[in-house]
Amino acid sequence: MNIKIWGCRGSIPSPGPEKSIYGSNTSCIQVTDGNNCIILDGGSGIQRLSESLPKNITHIDLLLTHLHLDHIIGLGFFQPFYNPKMTINIWGPAAAYVSLKQRLRRYFSPPLFPIRLSELPCKGEIFEIHNSTFRIGDFKITSEYICHPGPTVGYRLQLGKAVFTYIPDHEPALGSSDFPHNQEWTSGFKLARGADILMQDAQYKNEDYKNRIGWGHSSMENAIDFGELSGVKKLLLFHHDPMHTDEQLMELYKKNTQNRKLSIEVELAEEGKSYNI
Ligand SMILES: [Zn+2]
Ligand SMILES: [Zn+2]
Repeated sequence: MNIKIWGCRGSIPSPGPEKSIYGSNTSCIQVTDGNNCIILDGGSGIQRLSESLPKNITHIDLLLTHLHLDHIIGLGFFQPFYNPKMTINIWGPAAAYVSLKQRLRRYFSPPLFPIRLSELPCKGEIFEIHNSTFRIGDFKITSEYICHPGPTVGYRLQLGKAVFTYIPDHEPALGSSDFPHNQEWTSGFKLARGADILMQDAQYKNEDYKNRIGWGHSSMENAIDFGELSGVKKLLLFHHDPMHTDEQLMELYKKNTQNRKLSIEVELAEEGKSYNI
């Protein structure tokens, strides 16, 4: 499968020349294999993604981790929604009282957006998922609720032996008193276990995390702990803080990796970069 990063910034799009390397667009990943096109999250990165799609594409699966604004803000500008020949299936977490469709309608309705969900001309269905396993083409996909405010899932995409795990907003240190030593009780472990590539929230500086416990995000140190605990091959540090410049991110990376004997590959996620596994 090919995995392309169209957005890896957390919380809010934050353009500026000081963020030209790691990028300013919020969460959006494209996974392709043959005719299958799977899009993970509809952050602002989805706008450029839609310009890159082949003209003859007729089917897309859009998998949402949750409905925080930075993960859906690009949806209204995703051109395939306006193509009556297109089928777009949307998958996302179920919530106790409000359906996924109703929650999506909040975004696709005035005063937030001029066009209503029911007015989109494309075809497609909306699927609510839990701790689920389902198939899209040859992909076996596992979703699981993970530690983040509001109903939020992470995804594990398996194609043959290749595994890609996507947990963009995630606070694994919360909920396990002896993190990072207990695999079984660590949020997201089953999704990430042995993955070829794991994209994991690494938003905060280690010293800032202490004052933000319970906000749903991870320190860079804890993201690396989680990657090592899960025995992944490559960890991509994801959901960069909107305040952090390229230079600051490189510094943080250095600080968190240079004096530590790493058992896995660790990189900063970079907008525009793609991987084949
Ligand atoms: Zn987010
Ligand atoms: Zn979130």
